[in-house]
Amino acid sequence: MQLSHRFAEQLPELCHAVKPFPVKAPRVAMLNKSLANELGVSTECLKGEYLFSLLFNDTHNPAIKSVAQKYGGHQFGQWNPHLGDGRGVLLGELKTPKGTFVDLHLKGSGQTPYSRHADGRAVLRSSIREYLASEALHKLNIPTSRALCLIASEEPLKRDFMESAAMIIRTCPSHIRFGHFEYFFHSKQWDLLDQLFDYCFTYYFQTCTRKDKPYLAMLTDICQRTGHMIACWQAYGFNHGVMNTDNMSIHGITFDYGPYTFLDDYIPGYICNKSDHTGRYAFDKQASIALWNLNALAHAFSSKLNIDELKKALATFEPSFLQHYRYLMQQRLGLNTNDTASSSACINGFLALLRDEAADYHLSFLYLTEHLLDIEKGEVDEFAKHFKNSDAFSEWALKYKSVLLNGKADWHTIQNSMYQVNPRYVLRNHFMQEAINRAETGDFTYCDSLFKAVSQPTLFKPEFEIFSKAPKQNQKGIALSCSS
Ligand code: AMP
Ligand code: MG
Ligand code: MG
Repeated sequence: MQLSHRFAEQLPELCHAVKPFPVKAPRVAMLNKSLANELGVSTECLKGEYLFSLLFNDTHNPAIKSVAQKYGGHQFGQWNPHLGDGRGVLLGELKTPKGTFVDLHLKGSGQTPYSRHADGRAVLRSSIREYLASEALHKLNIPTSRALCLIASEEPLKRDFMESAAMIIRTCPSHIRFGHFEYFFHSKQWDLLDQLFDYCFTYYFQTCTRKDKPYLAMLTDICQRTGHMIACWQAYGFNHGVMNTDNMSIHGITFDYGPYTFLDDYIPGYICNKSDHTGRYAFDKQASIALWNLNALAHAFSSKLNIDELKKALATFEPSFLQHYRYLMQQRLGLNTNDTASSSACINGFLALLRDEAADYHLSFLYLTEHLLDIEKGEVDEFAKHFKNSDAFSEWALKYKSVLLNGKADWHTIQNSMYQVNPRYVLRNHFMQEAINRAETGDFTYCDSLFKAVSQPTLFKPEFEIFSKAPKQNQKGIALSCSS
């Protein structure tokens, strides 16, 4: 595996050279073959001895100039300059068969100068959660980092109780966060801020350099991408849980998975992070928090853009978010994407009913899909019987039918398209808990099945049907925290 070290070599003052620390009895427990294939990495490279000697053995190690990156971040609204890669290193950049580059980052690799007394490790539990979620989101077309493999170990780690250390190799266009720009801005290191800007223009925002105002184009691009990402989260019921600015990627991809959750019951104010006492990062706050975060990023552009330009860029977030959100929801409901007014009424009406009885978010879309031809025949009760307030759902379904009748597509075609966008197999917490419990005893077979199911989330397969079920009452609301 040949890596380049552009970041390490071109921005040495923005990072610190650190080697990964070996762990006891490492083994590759999960391997993302389709990603390896896309990246042109032979799976032989990732199977064990070769990988471990590359990562941990000094004779191979000089080939990898791994670095911990320096950044800051607004955490729960408070500026914290003392952040950086505290438990991970950038291994380098890999050239893919398409000629593009992706970062390879080893998360859980041990202490760095930014670890601040913590151990620099990640537990198996959180590594599994990131490994599974990043693939699940990717397969729902939600922009995200992805994990290439998961390395389990026998290295004990103390958190709330004794667990074991694990690592993942994470890939994404870059690991540059809002907090990178914020740090060099707030510490008034103008030279380094300029270096960071130039680096981003060179490798990630080339098209912006051809615009009249490259900085305006770059900030606008980040705002619009972030709008798209949040739209995907809202449409698919994903609650990130820790939207600190150090967890926000400049590429508008889902990044740094912590106590995230896919909603079960549709509770718009749901808070998945039990450390989030005020609900700052609740599901229905994600769009406004994203804008808050973009505003924090915009400060770092304030030496490059005047106030009107900053506002102009920030103003593109909301239309981007709304446009993508409406489009995704129209698709999920099989609505004609040209008919904005009546489809918005349909979407809002449906969500209000789901909210009123906290119906299962994902199953509700599936019920609608499955009963679409009943609705066509006017047999709306077949669909409505799945809900507590069936009268209200019947009434909604009749209006929905009239909206669909105004469109030109035939009902079978609509139903097929709905099956493509409404996942049957969702990465719900109760499945993940089971996967983690078993993996902690060394058995990754359930984890593997769950990975496969969420990798083809809309494709019915009898062996994955266990993953189509909503949780029972006692399996709901698993509390998750940042400690991982
Ligand atoms: P997170 O909440 O995962 O976004 O992490 C916030 C900051 O804490 C980042 O700078 C991490 O690198 C650092 N951090 C989290 N966990 C650890 C750990 N176990 N050891 C060292 N640093 C950590
Ligand atoms: Mg350095
Ligand atoms: Mg983080």
